[in-house]
Amino acid sequence: MRGEPLSASDFVAPGEPCQICSATESEPYYSHNGMELVRCVGCGFIFLDPLPSPSLIAKMYADPYDGATTSYFAKAKRKKKLWRCWKRAGLLAGRFGFRVSGRRFLDVGSSAGYMVEAARRWGFKAHGVELDSHSVAFARKHYPGGTYSDGTIEEFAASDAMEFPAFDVLHCSDVIEHIPHVNPFMVAVRSVLKPGGLLYLTTMDINHPRRPENLLEWDGFAPPAHCLYFSPATIQRLLENHGFCIVRHYRLTKPGIKLLARKL
Ligand SMILES: [Zn+2]
Repeated sequence: MRGEPLSASDFVAPGEPCQICSATESEPYYSHNGMELVRCVGCGFIFLDPLPSPSLIAKMYADPYDGATTSYFAKAKRKKKLWRCWKRAGLLAGRFGFRVSGRRFLDVGSSAGYMVEAARRWGFKAHGVELDSHSVAFARKHYPGGTYSDGTIEEFAASDAMEFPAFDVLHCSDVIEHIPHVNPFMVAVRSVLKPGGLLYLTTMDINHPRRPENLLEWDGFAPPAHCLYFSPATIQRLLENHGFCIVRHYRLTKPGIKLLARKL
């Protein structure tokens, strides 16, 4: 879809109520290339208005040149990625005292399968859900120790792939900012996690003190792909709305949010 101009059908109707607090009033926050970020007057949540439509999402993530580029899968990068995932999966395994044999780990937005493979190496039964079928094919070929599903978490949760709730840990890194309608997404996340299960979540932090003043200088600013712009306060409220409590909020020097939450 690169280079194609966006049209009205690429977006839903403008003026949807805030997905976190249901307020219908918002104020302009920033506008760029005909796309507008607004800020909810009720809770301060910042989002693209109008939001991308399902057809635009399908276009954005179905194109191998826009999503899974070959360089992302290059061997040198794979090693580095896998190492980073291995450290993060170790942190999650540590939460169970490293007794993870038989425990189920789900990576939402599993891309090329690095996190699934890393979790598997720590002893988890690891599964990945990914929208981009090229990435799923790559993961199945290179990291066959894990299992993978094509599609969205909503589709996965509604499928009979396994008996839900099935997972002890759900990893969701740099995904939630891409999801136009975040409540159905969170319902699906919750429904596949066991009671007491852990949710590891990262996203950008638009209120971070080190976020560049000029949004155009910030790599987190990427509409329409990035359509939801959370702060620590708005992500906490969203999680609480869906029956999660935050157990650890990691402090980051770069403008991001990294947290661990538990399903109540
Ligand atoms: Zn709101």
